[in-house]
Amino acid sequence: EVKRSGRGTWRYFEAKMNEAATRTLLIQRALHDGLQANYFSLHFQPKFRDGGTTLAGAEALLRLTHPELGSLPPAEFIPIAERSGQIVQIGYWVVREACRHIHLWQDEDLPVVRIAINLSPRQLVQPELVTTILGILETENVTPEQIIFEITESVAMQDAAHTTEMIREFQRSGFEIAIDDFGTGYSSLAYLQRFGAKQLKIDRFFTNGLDTDGHESTAIVSAIIALAHALEMDVVAEGVETPSQLDRLNTLFCDELQGFLLGKPMPGEAFGALLRTYEGDIAEPPDVPTSEP
Ligand code: C2E
Ligand code: MG
Ligand code: MG
Ligand code: MG
Repeated sequence: EVKRSGRGTWRYFEAKMNEAATRTLLIQRALHDGLQANYFSLHFQPKFRDGGTTLAGAEALLRLTHPELGSLPPAEFIPIAERSGQIVQIGYWVVREACRHIHLWQDEDLPVVRIAINLSPRQLVQPELVTTILGILETENVTPEQIIFEITESVAMQDAAHTTEMIREFQRSGFEIAIDDFGTGYSSLAYLQRFGAKQLKIDRFFTNGLDTDGHESTAIVSAIIALAHALEMDVVAEGVETPSQLDRLNTLFCDELQGFLLGKPMPGEAFGALLRTYEGDIAEPPDVPTSEP
């Protein structure tokens, strides 16, 4: 009896593992074919300043849509691309595609805003990363001031000395850096200061907590904002979903806001339409070529 059910359980796990392995293989193939086959696209999620009234740019978020697998969330396919190394080529595509959109908006004489692009650990160890990115920007006619690269806190701290060097190289070339998902990893405050990043992005776990565990999360968010401001960084709150979270963040002098309440990730055409029709102020990054009158 026990034996039989044990075997049944084993068969069940075996079947599940085969299923997972097969799915991983399919995703790896989708990642491999994706650049040629046009499976990838970018969505842009707006970011706001001044309590949510000024449009300050957008974060570019990668999407993968496969004819059989359907639409896959980055949380599923990015770790696979990271392990296989495919993220390096895909990451360059993300930069090129973001630049292509920036250029389209510029050609339309829309306000110039800064676009945030996520970087993976595997990308950060490419010796030619910054040079290759600069080459892409030159081809696409985009200046580094129009881009801010996001590095997650846990990745940044894994090899903080290397991260410091990379950040310096990015900054020497004119790019800004944001530390992403802050508060969930273990930060060395000395390194956080040494990075000299422009922005600190509070993980949406804490934003969410402003509603669910009020006092504790307010204390943490307020401490993160104080820390960031002391180190001359701007704070971005991720995952703003409710008016009460927005209110709380404004009371705490959070500099930038991003979340479904203010704007969901949208295709490039939709973000272009937002730039075209937005009725509030639009914050342009300094030192960008202004469009001809
Ligand atoms: P992230 O960089 O922290 O991006 C923010 C994520 O939070 C996005 O998920 C966004 O859709 C989601 N989000 C924004 N506002 C809200 C909200 O109000 N509520 C909730 N529940 N979620 C919100 P997404 O697009 O699924 O991306 C997940 C992660 O995948 C990103 O986290 C980033 O780490 C990674 N990723 C996305 N695109 C790229 C890329 O081009 N390159 C690399 N290396 N990583 C990427
Ligand atoms: Mg990010
Ligand atoms: Mg984040
Ligand atoms: Mg995240």
